[in-house]
Amino acid sequence: FQFAAPHNEPVYNYAPGSPERAALKKQLAAFKAAPADIPMYINGQEVRTGKTVAVRPPHEIKHKLGQFHRGDASHVQSAIDAALAARTQWAETPWEQRASIFLRAAELIATKYRYHMNGATMLGQSKNAYQAEIDSACELIDFLRFNVHYLSEIYKQQPVSSAGVHNRTEYRPLEGFVLAVTPFNFTAIAGNLPSVAAMCGNVVVWKPADTQVFASSVFMQILIEAGLPAGVINLVYVDGPVLGEVCFNHRDFAGIHFTGSTGVFQQMWKTIGTNIHKYRAYPRIVGETGGKDFVLAHKSALVDVVVTALARGAFEYQGQKCSAASRAYLPSNISEEVQQKLATMLGTMKMGTVEDFGNFINAVIDERSFDKIAAYIDNAKKDPKAKIIAGGNYNKAEGYFIEPTVIVTTDPKYSTMCEEIFGPVLTIYTYDADKFEETLTLVDTTSDYALTGSIIAQDRYAIDLATKKLVNSAGNFYINDKPTGAVVGQQPFGGARASGTNDKAGSMLNLYRWLSARTIKETM
Ligand code: GLU
Repeated sequence: FQFAAPHNEPVYNYAPGSPERAALKKQLAAFKAAPADIPMYINGQEVRTGKTVAVRPPHEIKHKLGQFHRGDASHVQSAIDAALAARTQWAETPWEQRASIFLRAAELIATKYRYHMNGATMLGQSKNAYQAEIDSACELIDFLRFNVHYLSEIYKQQPVSSAGVHNRTEYRPLEGFVLAVTPFNFTAIAGNLPSVAAMCGNVVVWKPADTQVFASSVFMQILIEAGLPAGVINLVYVDGPVLGEVCFNHRDFAGIHFTGSTGVFQQMWKTIGTNIHKYRAYPRIVGETGGKDFVLAHKSALVDVVVTALARGAFEYQGQKCSAASRAYLPSNISEEVQQKLATMLGTMKMGTVEDFGNFINAVIDERSFDKIAAYIDNAKKDPKAKIIAGGNYNKAEGYFIEPTVIVTTDPKYSTMCEEIFGPVLTIYTYDADKFEETLTLVDTTSDYALTGSIIAQDRYAIDLATKKLVNSAGNFYINDKPTGAVVGQQPFGGARASGTNDKAGSMLNLYRWLSARTIKETM
């Protein structure tokens, strides 16, 4: 049967007094009142080891939201065994049946567990209601529905036949198991990385970030309720080196679907390379690994467009998006005005817990992140090449709170112009408004990353020039918009260079990586 092209899931706005806001608040209270005891899921079974790790909201670290059970190498081994045992039957299940499980999971999120998914993301990852709605409800639903649609399109692609010869292509899953290693910052990505591989007929071992276990475990329960057979996706909470030791030495390791840091990805790639002779087949290596994303304004840019792109692009979800704007290049004719308006706007943004829906800014994910970001701010306070024009304060007494901070620098290669900070820190460099072409070269060569970037201009010549000269500087390039908020099906997401393998999440390009085609020629 045909899967119709899906539409994006409508986003709730949680307006004051709305039934949606009341329902979400009720779910938040329910989660806070009953601490969760979160098991691993191996072979469809809940696994509790007794080695528990506390889960605390990053914005309210004295409150215990629950605990999860830490696994060891034996649990990784059990997860692989369960996956491999489930493999043949799952691969032979008609793909429409596999697809219907993921479509059902999408429906369950949309209609029954929306507030569970959003609530777990809000509390576990300190993400406000609007960002959680976009991420853990709508984007995850979209990934599931659009990927089913794209898969249906792939399966339709067949070679030509000729007189007396029938040719066909069989889109087989990979031979072995796929490892999904997922990040804290997007529940949608955490849910998508294992799901897209499984949808293609693969079996999966899934390790989420420790700081995102809560929402991942809710999604795992939804997959089980949707009818996912035991062993197809196995969810384990183990230390990275333990996971790598078992998986990367296994003959049936067939591929990795990763979102996280460049350093970890490169280390994994090296290990896989060293072990290459051990594997049955060349593993697929797919990763999205960060960014140092730019906003470049031209002298023709409208000031308010630049201010909004910076405020939203740099500070939504505390700047903890791979796509977040973190270096801005402003032309001398409007730079002052942009800085003033931006500082004023940031001054009106409230910071606090996710339960108060009026808070735009919540906490950063954990103490390690907090300390790293605070160190960059401290350095800027001391450095004559840098000046803080907004924010600059931080406090971890109740939660990991850092004010949205803007640094202005006279050095285009200043550390915060080049290094990924992954927090609410934006750095601005002012360039001579008549040196736009030179600035394009500067934008391209300042960072090793190439994930997202924006050009803001009214002048069509400037837009075209930037689009051409920055051809390899960003996998997602925005004209007159912030560089964040890619929508599944609309802006396939991913970047090259140090930002990853650019196998665009939520597109056919990504799905192909989880398929290994067989060509069959039959002579009649
Ligand atoms: N897709 C998200 C966006 O466009 C970013 C995902 C990420 O941070 O990895 O903002």
